[in-house]
Amino acid sequence: MILTHRIELDPTEKQKEYFRQACGTARFVWNWALAEWDYRYELGANIAASEIKRYFNSIKYEAFPWLENIHRDAHARPFAALGKAWKAYFNGDVEGRPQFKKKGKCRDSFYVACDKFSTRGKTVRLPVIGTVKLREPLRFTGKIQSGTVSREADRWFIAIAVEIPQREVHPPRGEAVGIDLGLATFAALSNGEKVAAPKPLGKGLQKLRRLSRAHSRKQPGSHNCQKTALRLAHCHRRIGNIRRDFLHKFTTRMSKNHAEIFVEDLNVKGMVQNRHLSRAIHDVGWSEMRRQLEYKSHLDGSVVTVRDRFYASSKTCSACGYVMEVLPLSVREWTCPVCQTTHDRNVNAAINLKQNTVGYTGINAWGQEGSGLARPASETGLVEPGTLE
Ligand SMILES: [Zn+2]
Repeated sequence: MILTHRIELDPTEKQKEYFRQACGTARFVWNWALAEWDYRYELGANIAASEIKRYFNSIKYEAFPWLENIHRDAHARPFAALGKAWKAYFNGDVEGRPQFKKKGKCRDSFYVACDKFSTRGKTVRLPVIGTVKLREPLRFTGKIQSGTVSREADRWFIAIAVEIPQREVHPPRGEAVGIDLGLATFAALSNGEKVAAPKPLGKGLQKLRRLSRAHSRKQPGSHNCQKTALRLAHCHRRIGNIRRDFLHKFTTRMSKNHAEIFVEDLNVKGMVQNRHLSRAIHDVGWSEMRRQLEYKSHLDGSVVTVRDRFYASSKTCSACGYVMEVLPLSVREWTCPVCQTTHDRNVNAAINLKQNTVGYTGINAWGQEGSGLARPASETGLVEPGTLE
């Protein structure tokens, strides 16, 4: 498995200058390749990223002599990245075609191949500029796959991808848990626990809105505009840190304490398109949670199972399997008309996710289709089938 550790760098002014140049180079090459791609497309020629790269390599030092000052990894990588971006576009995985990168408007980064750098304690040795200080040592041991240096406001980071060797792990002892993700509370667990999203997130978001309004009123390119842009970036980073910290603590607790974890397959992409929900979904970072849960459970030996999102986990009584006809979103608590169990909406959904009954599309004891609860009510001991009037 490949894990990435993103570490903040502590570069000297000279090193920062090189980073900026290398990012500029990567951006320049991307734009050059994209223009060439468009040109060839117009001509109806056959286009391959490797073909464009070969052509670029044959002319680059003559056409752009300043490239010699920047390590070649920074100018070699954008071709593969562009090829990938086009592929994603043609496969329908992303909406827009690859765009030209504008200085100050795009993510600044450049690539370093695995054999061109090495880490030692709290330092990393990079091509051309030598040793750069790291804020913390590399967390993972294994074969280094690649490195990407990137800028976030006025800070620099290196993301190091490491191949982790497969080792034997013993699954945690704790019982299975279902996690139902929500908007009001971050998550409800099948054991009844409710996990709230961190409070500072809300305050930070208010500040973010205020700053972005202020930023949009400033004259583009002015000193004031740059100043608010920096403050905005700081605010973004702070919110990102709070969220990351919260998610890491939550996912670690889950993967270390539960042998089996059941989550709902939320169609995050589909929901984000809904304007009202998008804000909240980005805030709680559901997809990030899934990503963390998956790699951590892999390391800790627990198993994550993703349940079908069409499964009526909220409307099905987790005690007897009866499916409610309607259960509006505003109803937070309800009582099953069959077995009289009172449910918290989200905890009930989490229990349903946990119970090994999901994905069942047959007919339950009450003749309801697609109930999801395969276990007949007679086995639950709560109610006999056919007793519902
Ligand atoms: Zn019931």
